[in-house]
Amino acid sequence: MDLCIIGSGYVGLVSGACFAEVGHNVVCVDNDQRKVDALHAGKIPIYEPGLEELVQRNVAAKRLRFTNSIEDGVDHSQVVFIAVPTPPQADGSVDLSFIERVAREIAGVLKPGQYRVVVDKSTVPVKTGEKVTDTIKRYNTGADFDVVSNPEFLREGSAVPDLMKPDRIVIGGNSDRALALMKKVYEPFNAPILVTDVSSAELIKHAANSFLALKISYINAVSAICEASGADVEKVAAGIGMDRRIGRNFLNAGLGYGGSCFPKDIAAFIAISDDLGVPFTLLKEVQRINRDQKERYIKSIRDALWVLRDKKIAVWGLTFKPDTDDVRNSVPIEIVNELIKEGAIVTAYDPKGAEKAKEYNLCPGVKIVDCPLEAVKGAEALLLATEWKEFASIPLDEVKKQMHTPLVFDGRNFFDPTTMAELGFIYRAIGRPILPPKAA
Ligand code: NAD
Repeated sequence: MDLCIIGSGYVGLVSGACFAEVGHNVVCVDNDQRKVDALHAGKIPIYEPGLEELVQRNVAAKRLRFTNSIEDGVDHSQVVFIAVPTPPQADGSVDLSFIERVAREIAGVLKPGQYRVVVDKSTVPVKTGEKVTDTIKRYNTGADFDVVSNPEFLREGSAVPDLMKPDRIVIGGNSDRALALMKKVYEPFNAPILVTDVSSAELIKHAANSFLALKISYINAVSAICEASGADVEKVAAGIGMDRRIGRNFLNAGLGYGGSCFPKDIAAFIAISDDLGVPFTLLKEVQRINRDQKERYIKSIRDALWVLRDKKIAVWGLTFKPDTDDVRNSVPIEIVNELIKEGAIVTAYDPKGAEKAKEYNLCPGVKIVDCPLEAVKGAEALLLATEWKEFASIPLDEVKKQMHTPLVFDGRNFFDPTTMAELGFIYRAIGRPILPPKAA
């Protein structure tokens, strides 16, 4: 099929490449000329495992191309996906101006007799589909189109496998013609397809992300109880997770959720429910626990180092999760900035996120280095903030040798407490008992 994706970011570019991989002809549109130029030059503007090869292969096969022209995209496609940002506003509600603008732009280029399915892949509040429909009709009275909701569930860091082998595909539509085309788009993926009305599909995305955030906040609240009682949150999570009704996923105590999706989607769902007159107060508690978790971590650093001013602190990890270069709303960066505010001297290392952190000046005052061992030189504490796999292969005895004080705050329960104690580290994990370090 001929498909167009408007917005070539984490969702649009990866979706476009995966659609091409299963045999569709895909035009990816973006209004950021630098991004389009980079893609034309074979440079992938984001890091996502497996994406570069996928894009190269499909560009070479002439199934994937890039343009800044919505008209070009819409003209050559039966189905037009919208994958533009839906950022939060100050009050938590969603800024839908990107979606509205794209709806107007689509209306402006739809030609008479040209039936198109317009698909909302961005995460949007329930009822947005109706607004997109009204907008296109208002700006193009003769347009022949249907609007479908097709929320995206990919996770950054595993976006390619998530898209190629999704748990489910949700398609919300009210037109048989549009639904038939959408099923054809997804046929090659051999995944379960759930067909709903537009509003239900829109709601599924916010409800799913809010539930996942709730699971994270739940185990983080349990981690605080573990710390107060001497229990081990890892064992508690294992015990809870073995119950098939609950499952082990998303029961990892840590620094709390961050990134470009969860904080905004939870805030949006609160705003949506408030707007509908059915406040979802449980989610406010989820947010509070998330904030507290970060504060507790910073407090434990303060408790150990007392005054942070002039203390040399090393940070491993700046991205909001491993296997991505995405540093938007990253909890590690929020923590780093708090330490800087209190006068600490911070040196950070991240395998993929360093460039974007520097480019957007997200943690001014932090020295970002290219090597994890360089970061810990002379440090009075090491914070492990993102659980990149490569941190497991760094020789810990060397880390200890380089540090001024062998104090480690493990914000992801990445290391084994017994090993750390045996190596002589003063080791603080999340929700785990503190073991006395073995004397050197
Ligand atoms: P992104 O910022 O990475 O990409 C959006 C792209 O849209 C950018 O390249 C931008 O230049 C482009 N754009 C903006 N306005 C445009 C216009 N008028 N015409 C053409 N291009 C335009 O965003 P993203 O992370 O891909 O997220 C997109 C949507 O998908 C959001 O609603 C987000 O909530 C949702 N989502 C994101 C993820 C994720 O993990 N990132 C997962 C599921 C859903």
